[in-house]
Amino acid sequence: MYRRTLVQAVCRHSVRLYHRTVVHHNTTKQTVTKAKIPDRFVQAVIDIVGNDNVSTTDAIREQHGHDESYHATSPPDIVAFAENTVHVSRVAKLCNDNEVPLIPFGTGTGMEGGINALKGGLCLNLSKMKKIVSVNAEDFDCTVEAGVTRLTLNNYLRDTGLTFPIDPGADASLCGMCATSASGTNAVRYGTMRENVLNMEVVLPDGRIIYTAGKGRRTKKTSAGYNLTNLFVGSEGTLGIITQATIRLHGIPEATISAVCSFNNVQEAVDSTVQILQMGIPIARIEFLDEVSVDASNRYSKLDMKVAPSLFFEFTGSPDTLDKQAEVVKEITFLNGGSDFKWASDHQERNRLWKARHDMLYACMALKPGKKPYSTDVCVPISNLPEVIMRSNEVIQQAGAIDAFMVGHVGDGNIHSLFLFDTENKKEVELVQGLAETIATIAMELDGTCTGEHGIGMGKRGLLQQEIGETGMEVMRQLKRTFDPKGIMNPGKVIFE
Ligand SMILES: Cc1cc2nc3c(=O)[nH]c(=O)nc-3n(C[C@H](O)[C@H](O)[C@H](O)COP(=O)(O)OP(=O)(O)OC[C@H]3O[C@@H](n4cnc5c(N)ncnc54)[C@H](O)[C@@H]3O)c2cc1C
Repeated sequence: MYRRTLVQAVCRHSVRLYHRTVVHHNTTKQTVTKAKIPDRFVQAVIDIVGNDNVSTTDAIREQHGHDESYHATSPPDIVAFAENTVHVSRVAKLCNDNEVPLIPFGTGTGMEGGINALKGGLCLNLSKMKKIVSVNAEDFDCTVEAGVTRLTLNNYLRDTGLTFPIDPGADASLCGMCATSASGTNAVRYGTMRENVLNMEVVLPDGRIIYTAGKGRRTKKTSAGYNLTNLFVGSEGTLGIITQATIRLHGIPEATISAVCSFNNVQEAVDSTVQILQMGIPIARIEFLDEVSVDASNRYSKLDMKVAPSLFFEFTGSPDTLDKQAEVVKEITFLNGGSDFKWASDHQERNRLWKARHDMLYACMALKPGKKPYSTDVCVPISNLPEVIMRSNEVIQQAGAIDAFMVGHVGDGNIHSLFLFDTENKKEVELVQGLAETIATIAMELDGTCTGEHGIGMGKRGLLQQEIGETGMEVMRQLKRTFDPKGIMNPGKVIFE
């Protein structure tokens, strides 16, 4: 539903380019909002980005009105493609002058409805900003434009011996990853986007351009003033548009081996994880899959893993240190009841294993065609991992009839409970939302967060309030008003305005 006509907002201003007429028509799946944009506004956008970079067709608007989450599509009124920072700056100023909502779009792989245009407006697709601006191999950093994806960058770096290891599975844009503070399977070794962004070029809603660490700076350390970089990392398009990011690169390890180990129950797997981390073994990845996830993965990715709670490991380093690490890990898992420890040192075999892990969402979805997934994303201190998993499992068991899977980047204390459900079935929707809220509350009781990597988006704003507290939220609202006094940036996300 269209919640607030833009006309109300625009009428307060003398420049009235934008004005919206709305027609609703139902499909079986969702209400599609059809918008009519005044020609003058469309023309003003075309004047900035060119005719080929603007669309108001239903198909393109629909495509830009949802991400990979279950949230119903909310299409923007107009989609514009920026080719450079000047385009972004001028479009932002135009939207700001006319109080038109502005939603940055990376690749649309988000999991929390971050790009849904809840109040219509202009979606700014950044995928045409594809330049890899610089690679400073000797300093282990590079600067990329907003549309460069992580796989594109890693292909480009192939011959340098360097890599950008932050890996959310999907081939997301690197600036989108900055915006959601993404991480994934490699965070246990390399950290998240927060630890890997050195500087960003950001366009503010009024069109001004800032560099969060100062223009051209790319130091590993800085104590210079407020940390604007980490204010924009995780801001989910609500404060400004990230047009370039300077990020850290890492050397490709000399050797890598992977392994899978299965357990009799979840507790054994989780206890092994905690002990491995507490021993300070510099492991590169530890991923947990419960029994149903392993089964889904076997079917989808044609694997033959034992159907049991399992851990996937990756070890990196020099060949002799790898063997030592792996032996200690094997011993810990055996002492905890683990069995079927299988190595995958061959490059192809390893890739097959990790591809299967990254395809887990689709493997689960393939079991119930037509159902949509929702994945919780809680994260707790590692010593509380066993408790959050056990208590989450209990509430899921008590809830009964819902398809549920559990996977996680357990090395970081980050666990996903994945539910498959019918988004047209009110009871199922309420059940999943209730479970997600309960699991997040359990995590918060255990000193954790409601989101380790997916972000707040549109659905977790209440949980953020619970997590941060009222005074903290007021400071966040003040920050939002400072950067975006007219509230045009991605309205309806992260905070209640
Ligand atoms: C199969 C699958 C697995 C995934 N696994 C993980 C995982 O393990 N870890 C993880 O962290 N995530 C995971 N994700 C989620 C997703 O890939 C990340 O959230 C990613 O960072 C989103 O990047 P994007 O370019 O697609 O952003 P989008 O979905 O386009 O946008 C996400 C949010 O960022 C804002 N935004 C995008 N670009 C910019 C910009 N340049 N400036 C300002 N704001 C911007 C948008 O407005 C929106 O609010 C997974 C997704 C899928 C589909």
